[in-house]
Amino acid sequence: MEPSISPPLQLLDQLGKLTTSATANSALMLISLHGLRRIGNIFGSRLSEQIMHDLIQQLECAIRPDDRILRSGRFELAVLISGLLNRGHAVLAANKLADILGTPIEISKKERKFPFSIGMALSPEHSCDPEQLLRYAEIASLASEITQTPYQIYSHDDLESIVTDWDIEGDLDNAIANNQLSLHYQPKISSRDGRLLGAEALMRWQHPVHGMIPPDRFIPVAENMGIMPKLTWWCINTALRERIELGKPASSLSVAVNISALDLTDERFIKSVLGAIGIWDTPPEVLTLEITEGSLMKDIALSADILKRLQSYGIRISIDDFGTGYSSLAYFKQLPADELKIDRSFIVNILDNDLDRHIVSTIVQMARKLRLDIVAEGLETALTQQQLIELGCDIIQGYHIARPMPQAEFITWSKSHD
Ligand code: C2E
Ligand code: CA
Ligand code: CA
Repeated sequence: MEPSISPPLQLLDQLGKLTTSATANSALMLISLHGLRRIGNIFGSRLSEQIMHDLIQQLECAIRPDDRILRSGRFELAVLISGLLNRGHAVLAANKLADILGTPIEISKKERKFPFSIGMALSPEHSCDPEQLLRYAEIASLASEITQTPYQIYSHDDLESIVTDWDIEGDLDNAIANNQLSLHYQPKISSRDGRLLGAEALMRWQHPVHGMIPPDRFIPVAENMGIMPKLTWWCINTALRERIELGKPASSLSVAVNISALDLTDERFIKSVLGAIGIWDTPPEVLTLEITEGSLMKDIALSADILKRLQSYGIRISIDDFGTGYSSLAYFKQLPADELKIDRSFIVNILDNDLDRHIVSTIVQMARKLRLDIVAEGLETALTQQQLIELGCDIIQGYHIARPMPQAEFITWSKSHD
């Protein structure tokens, strides 16, 4: 008999029976027949219901008598499988069902394949709790849909991140409008006299569900979505506006904003930066744009040209994570730069790794000859600071001085630091 649509409570009830009575492993498979929804919209629900009916019959022939199929929605099925000897059997079962669902169906004299996804969670491996099991199968099903693979078995690390990225993507576009982005500031100070020279603005996203999402996580997503120019625009404008709010010391403090290589693929970026310094009445030399050398390699000619034009207006250019981009000096020569930031990976071992110390010393000497400011980032101890002074490094930044902090805290910090 064909299953009628079971409300979630009924499904949970069945799952409860399965997980408590099963002596061996069991699995919950959630099947979502997205393609069928479309067929229903185009050809009418009589046809989509007929196909659903046929599919259920085929699936029922493929599973064992003890297994159960429930219809959990108009285009959704839940398959409860018990008595699995191991994970391999679960995979076999998923493959069998995916083969049936993937077989083309003739509609209006045309063979059609329609998309579906299968998410599977195992008991007791993933959970013995019916609600948890259902949630895990739902996550796996969503991951199967996003990755366009026939099925996914739940895995905490892989699937949570696929689904979170997807969720982030949906929300990122509105993060600015919803006031969820903010800037944290990390001081840059003179290594000799400790004078505050400026701060680097680092983006933070307070997500309503996932909490604080680090920039390393959402910036690549923004780059993929093509909304990086919008985020950078927000970042530059916010940093310049908040710089004014710092009060008196602001007149001499510089602010550094990180930019993405993608910002430098469009000449309109120049106009947008000049527009921002105009709006906030900012002397161009107090704005530094930090860009990683590695990220620039793709279209060096255009990126270098845009940076040069910005530099010609007095805006400062800083090469971030210097030393990690595998670039040659010939390549580096093409880049306009006012500042080099030596990557944290060299600074961290400077006390006990001779090679790292030589590298830093060589970079400092080269930077001196080229009249570039040199910044050591990721400074975590007083001893490292001493070593950097000896090597001739003028500007330092790192947890030892201060961690990145919200604007209000930075205002207090900068006043107490005077
Ligand atoms: P980055 O530009 O190299 O920034 C430095 C990162 O190192 C920051 O992480 C900072 O919090 C961290 N850091 C600073 N001092 C120390 C230290 O002493 N020890 C250790 N272990 N870490 C330290 P954060 O804020 O998570 O940013 C990570 C990366 O995300 C940044 O690396 C930058 O590439 C990117 N990013 C951040 N904000 C923006 C932004 O507004 N736009 C763009 N395009 N990228 C951004
Ligand atoms: Ca940076
Ligand atoms: Ca860096």
